[in-house]
Amino acid sequence: MRFFGHSVPLWRPLLAVAVTYSAAQVLVQWSLGPVARYAMLSGMSALLFLVMVITVIYGVRTFAKDLYGEMLFFAALISGICVLNALKFMKLLDGGLDALQMDRNFQLVFYIYMSSLATVLPPSIVWLVLRRLTDDLRNLAARDPLTQLLNRRGLTEALQRYFNSRKAVPAHLLMVDIDHFKRINDTYGHPIGDAVLCHVAEVLRTTVRGGDLAGRFGGEEFVVICLDTDVLGVMHLAERLRAAIENQAIQVTGSDHPLHCTITVGVSRHFANAHVLEDAMREADAALYRGKAAGRNRIELAPS
Ligand code: GH3
Ligand code: MG
Ligand code: MG
Repeated sequence: MRFFGHSVPLWRPLLAVAVTYSAAQVLVQWSLGPVARYAMLSGMSALLFLVMVITVIYGVRTFAKDLYGEMLFFAALISGICVLNALKFMKLLDGGLDALQMDRNFQLVFYIYMSSLATVLPPSIVWLVLRRLTDDLRNLAARDPLTQLLNRRGLTEALQRYFNSRKAVPAHLLMVDIDHFKRINDTYGHPIGDAVLCHVAEVLRTTVRGGDLAGRFGGEEFVVICLDTDVLGVMHLAERLRAAIENQAIQVTGSDHPLHCTITVGVSRHFANAHVLEDAMREADAALYRGKAAGRNRIELAPS
């Protein structure tokens, strides 16, 4: 769980389990004999591995979706140990200590499986750690640290992936610029300016459709790339963005008065490959500055 960035208590629960289990073992050995102690070990192991399998399956559906294949592989391996321990538990109850003789087929399978695991698990764990680290690095390189939107590199790569896919259809680029942002910075200070940037980023993130790309290349300008839609759809989205920013108040820490801001949006013509991204940006930029000159808080489309 810690590997996946969830802080969970470790030492106290571990110590509590160790102390409780040791005490229980002494008690069981003393009152019921060695068969019961071995049976308890197998039963507890089966239970522990079952909990691990359930956690891994829960992880695949929630916090570790990006490691689907690896996590299922681990779930399968651990399920094997769980089943073997459960079988051992039943055999001990059934046949006593005889079940633990090494010449029995079951014991043979048990130890072969366990020693194979000891070989397979360490490289698998190293693989998992490397996979996680490279994913984190790729994410760091592709995102703007302040807003977590895509940066220029992330947006270009995502666009390339999109245009390489067979279903790719033309896209439109929206250049979004906060109006009189310098005034916000000068009046409220740089940290509040940053909070406004994060607010605008959040509105972009929640307003664009799934699959559309939202980015910030620095400053108070944002880029949205609308995929799989026509001019009418893009203008509709731009208007939704403009209205959402205009209407949502931004709560400023240390001030009773919520802050409002507006944006101007420049929309490019459609384009169909990642190489013309710069051209689309220039078009959207020119449209944006026409919007600024025409009074701000508006949307301007590049002429076709
Ligand atoms: P316009 O309506 O014409 O766009 O005016 P503006 O004031 O928004 O534009 P201008 O380009 O004059 O000012 C942009 C300001 O954005 C200046 C700069 O200090 C500020 N800025 C750039 N990056 C950041 C940042 O990361 N955080 C904060 N708080 N301010 C930033
Ligand atoms: Mg601005
Ligand atoms: Mg600007």
